[in-house]
Amino acid sequence: MANLESKLSDVVGDRTSKVLADAFGIKSVGDLMRHYPRRYMVRGELSDIAELKEGDEVTILAEVFSSTTRPIRGRKGSILEVIVTDGSAKLSLTFFNQAWREKELKVGTQGLFAGKVGIFNNKKQLSHPDYQMIADGADVDNAAQNFAGKYLPVYPATGKMPSWKISQCVDMAIASLDEIKDYLPEEVRSAHDYPTLQAALVQLHTPADLDHADAARERLTFDEAFLLQLMLLMRRNELKKLNTISRKVIAGGLLEAFDATLPFELTGGQREVTKEIEEDLAQAHPMHRLLQGEVGSGKTVVALRAMLAVVDSGGQAALLAPTEVLAAQHVRTFEKLLGPLAHGGKLGSSDRATQLTLITGSQSAPARKEALALAATGGAGIIIGTHALLGEKVEFADLGLIVVDEQHRFGVEQRDALKVKAQKPPHLLVMTATPIPRTVAMTVFGDLDVSTLRELPLGRQPITTHVISVLEKPAFLERAWARIREEVAAGHQAYVVAPRIEAGNDESADIDFLFGQESPDIASVTELAPRLASGALAGLRVADLHGRQSSELKDSTMRAFAAGEIDVLVSTTVIEVGVDVANATVMVIMDADRFGVSQLHQLRGRVGRGTSPGLCLLVTSAAVETPARARLDAVAATLDGFELSRIDLEQRREGDVLGAKQSGTQSHLRLLRVLRDEALIENARADAEGVLAASPDLTSYPSLSAEVALLAKDAAIDYLDKG
Ligand code: ADP
Ligand code: MG
Repeated sequence: MANLESKLSDVVGDRTSKVLADAFGIKSVGDLMRHYPRRYMVRGELSDIAELKEGDEVTILAEVFSSTTRPIRGRKGSILEVIVTDGSAKLSLTFFNQAWREKELKVGTQGLFAGKVGIFNNKKQLSHPDYQMIADGADVDNAAQNFAGKYLPVYPATGKMPSWKISQCVDMAIASLDEIKDYLPEEVRSAHDYPTLQAALVQLHTPADLDHADAARERLTFDEAFLLQLMLLMRRNELKKLNTISRKVIAGGLLEAFDATLPFELTGGQREVTKEIEEDLAQAHPMHRLLQGEVGSGKTVVALRAMLAVVDSGGQAALLAPTEVLAAQHVRTFEKLLGPLAHGGKLGSSDRATQLTLITGSQSAPARKEALALAATGGAGIIIGTHALLGEKVEFADLGLIVVDEQHRFGVEQRDALKVKAQKPPHLLVMTATPIPRTVAMTVFGDLDVSTLRELPLGRQPITTHVISVLEKPAFLERAWARIREEVAAGHQAYVVAPRIEAGNDESADIDFLFGQESPDIASVTELAPRLASGALAGLRVADLHGRQSSELKDSTMRAFAAGEIDVLVSTTVIEVGVDVANATVMVIMDADRFGVSQLHQLRGRVGRGTSPGLCLLVTSAAVETPARARLDAVAATLDGFELSRIDLEQRREGDVLGAKQSGTQSHLRLLRVLRDEALIENARADAEGVLAASPDLTSYPSLSAEVALLAKDAAIDYLDKG
């Protein structure tokens, strides 16, 4: 008899187990049992092709009519298009970069195909359908009979290891399995009325009916959330035990001097968050805090105050920014806010003053040398930089606090690379401008404490957003340019944002074909800027800004815009986050449907930052009642970043939600979906807290402890590791 740790070759033989190992990394019986079916095909629910409707999840029995592979224009890769027919009609199946499937999908053979119906060029299609071919010469009715009344699991498969073969292996594994020990504490299992681990695994692969499959899936999804929460909570407890230097706010220091010169009152939210941070910094254990807040809620001042508190205590603070534009802007903002307090060490400066320094990849050698010296000797209390801060040559005298700005652009490895430059584990403040729903925060940042700024500073004018459809009302675009002229005439400035740097270079129509949408000409900065300057915006000072320019050029353009020397900045999303020019009041976003919901929210947060109202115009050629248009309407309808980030997350793939580099945990998070499974995650968190309260190191739950350790081991190299 076998258990989950048994070698798979003992059950299915060497040859088959080698194919499974090569294809999916499956080595043990447990690995195979965790290779979950994506869905089930049900014989009784076959559809006719002629009756398919867009969006339907369908299974059809059909014959391959033709099959062609062609390269994609202007890109690597190929598209396999297979036309199948069931006698009633034809249907196109498309596969991206899977030409090898042509061998399986031979003309004249029959198979079952399952997927979601999409439309492209008025033709129905299934993109990347699951399928099971009926072997040559087999009696079709007979084969189909096998499916009758049976839920046939459809597995992620390859050419060498098709779904039906995996199914056979799973059957063998199940037959050979001894009783499996359940790691879920019995009180937790019975409280939710979940099946045992054994029952859940068996029912997920070979369900008696769909209710059993659902119950099995729920139990196994809960397991993922529960183990993850246990790992994160245990890690958080570990972090709380580390020792570091306490950085208490001192009276009569730099922070106090700064507060005295601050031109505005902190908002209630800022004061609250500041208090949380100061309490953390005063501990002899490193802070691990996430600061999330609405666009324009004033995170920067909060972060600066934390940095000043650390400088007061004799330490240094480093600010890691995602782009050179933002790093440079932070230096300017801090210099402006600090005034003479940023000129420490200079003749006649206050002895409470400190120095700022900037470290970026593109600065000149002498500038860099000076910056490195300031960081290493402690001459600079505040060091701002891009990823160049992580370079080997960068040393600090006493790094006490790391602030990571706009977190989603940084990986954990990068944060860790900075941490090793401190003698003791530094305090960490992670800022994100994309507010995220509670359970997402719990999952992605479950080991961080979270502070939230919801309130905007007093006197801040709301941003009005309109969708301009150039399909329905082409003349409205003229109105947009006229609005810019009006704002500029009133002494304000404007942004025009385009999705591309250059015209028509990247995305090809073939890619759109796969996703069932068509791409017209997309606006580009290098085409739009001169056209506006000589046309609709003639006479205004128009400049362009994009990622392919040198950092000197980008920096000087941003400075000129901030100084009011440029009226209209035509830009890509390089201005997406953090750029802060209070005099800018209007933003026109071209082909706005090309951007994500949160991205649009970030972008429009660049206007209405001063005391004049902001206006954002979303220009689109997306037709009414398309999903793209619905997204824009949602952005126009609300200024609530939390609500928008939810809409955004719902449309993204889970991998994007959890971060790109989650290789280690990925194998453990097969079923969990952070938005769909919110209630489950809340329960899992509460249960994990309960179990840890009873047994902080899980010593009373040895098999659970072992399971968490497995997850932690795989996660150690991965983004979730913020420790
Ligand atoms: P974000 O949270 O988007 O990073 P910022 O920190 O850039 O926001 O702040 C946006 C603008 O609001 C800045 O110009 C900042 O100086 C200003 N600001 C911050 N806090 C306040 C406040 N309490 N009262 C008035 N203005 C403030
Ligand atoms: Mg900011």
